Amino acid sequence: MPAHDFTRRTRRQSDPDVVVVGAGLAGLAAAQALTSRGVTVQVLEATERIGGRTAGRELDGFRLDNGGHLLNTDFPEPRRRLDLDRLELRPLAPGVLVHSGIRRYRVGDPQQTAARQAATRGPLGSPLDKARLGASLTRLAATPVQRLLTRPETTIARALAERGLAPRTVDGFLRPLLGALLSDPTLGTSSRVADVVLRSYARGRLCLPAAGIGAVPAQLAERLPAGTIRLGVRVTAIAADGVDTAGHGRIAARAVLLATDAQSAATLLPGLRVPDHHPVTTYYHAADRSPLGEAVLLLDADRPGGQAVLSHSLVLSEVDPSYAPAGQALIATTVLGRRSFEPGGPAGYEPLVRRRLAELYGTSTSGWEFLSVRHIPDAVPAMPPPHNFRRPVRLLAGLYACGDHRDTSTVQGALVSGRRAAQAVLRDLRVPVTARAAEAA
Ligand SMILES: Cc1cc2nc3c(=O)[nH]c(=O)nc-3n(C[C@H](O)[C@H](O)[C@H](O)COP(=O)(O)OP(=O)(O)OC[C@H]3O[C@@H](n4cnc5c(N)ncnc54)[C@H](O)[C@@H]3O)c2cc1C
Repeated sequence: MPAHDFTRRTRRQSDPDVVVVGAGLAGLAAAQALTSRGVTVQVLEATERIGGRTAGRELDGFRLDNGGHLLNTDFPEPRRRLDLDRLELRPLAPGVLVHSGIRRYRVGDPQQTAARQAATRGPLGSPLDKARLGASLTRLAATPVQRLLTRPETTIARALAERGLAPRTVDGFLRPLLGALLSDPTLGTSSRVADVVLRSYARGRLCLPAAGIGAVPAQLAERLPAGTIRLGVRVTAIAADGVDTAGHGRIAARAVLLATDAQSAATLLPGLRVPDHHPVTTYYHAADRSPLGEAVLLLDADRPGGQAVLSHSLVLSEVDPSYAPAGQALIATTVLGRRSFEPGGPAGYEPLVRRRLAELYGTSTSGWEFLSVRHIPDAVPAMPPPHNFRRPVRLLAGLYACGDHRDTSTVQGALVSGRRAAQAVLRDLRVPVTARAAEAA
């Protein structure tokens, strides 16, 4: 049945109030918000796993998350929606380690005073430049988000050029950091998005759940009534009164909430906007010894020919030893940007990554075992200016859409969009608002 056919389906007793299409973070967050208000929900997920882009996976005792996802302790929505204590967040070391030329230096610890930042060693401009960087991170941390959203909006690249920062501060810290955090090495993202992301960086700590990013969707799912999620059910058409599925028939509902990625959403609802996407390619290596004695984000600031060989690398087993079997280290390395990877595809590019990692970590990588590479062409929706932080989630009465492409392309954005869509459904279904629910919203 095509999306525009709104012939009413007859609801059976077993049909839910709401069908949620997709069990990524947005769909699970929406389902949680709905079921907590007594609305019956079926979450239909095409694959055999929950979590969408945050689904974790294991290989021979190594935990290979999808692209080494990073959370930030300052993200407000995870703090509201998740039990962070139970996630056992493991913070990365403050600041980042940057490799530039033949040097490696630590920079950007927001907790350090401007004076101490000025005194840190490394080729990051004069002491005055470093003190300025420290002061501007502190200022940013104290600026309300609403104020940041009123700043003139352009691309990050242009904003960095216009804001009078020392070129070495930009090239030796801000460019590689923002590229890594936004999966956008060319910095075409909205400067407002960058300000908000950098503010979180300055206020919080990058971290990972001890059990991997897959622990986030798992926690959302375990709060749902048993039987809410149906795996292996692909939705083939949607309307405001139900969905058609591949092999599982029609399911009628009072409302349908599309919680897929942008591309799948537009396939089911032609006309929905599909943003460009940034690809993310992650290489996983095993080593007998950790090449770095701490969990710190290592950024590659060199851009030979205008494009870095890789963006960043992290020893995941330093974040938590459970990421690798005992006595082994697991290193996840991210390559960003559109590239052909020819010849040999992403795996054929691995020798270059390995050589670069030897320079970055300052150690031989010839004995490292190449475990796997994961290339996701449409990993992260692009957010060029002007970026709408709150795209409409109510398409018409009975039909709603959420997902990171409606807010920001982050765990935070996906969770917020799920909550917003659930609130719109609840309003349309006239579910009464209790004082407790209003507080939780
Ligand atoms: C490699 C990588 C690295 C990232 N790093 C970070 C990071 O460090 N920090 C951060 O905050 N964010 C990061 N992100 C972004 C973050 O993962 C996403 O923003 C978020 O997970 C999106 O969740 P979602 O629910 O909107 O969509 P998705 O996770 O895409 O979920 C959509 C679900 O819908 C299902 N589906 C699709 N079509 C159908 C259909 N027809 N029927 C039924 N089900 C369907 C899919 O199988 C999927 O499970 C990263 C993403 C990637 C890919």
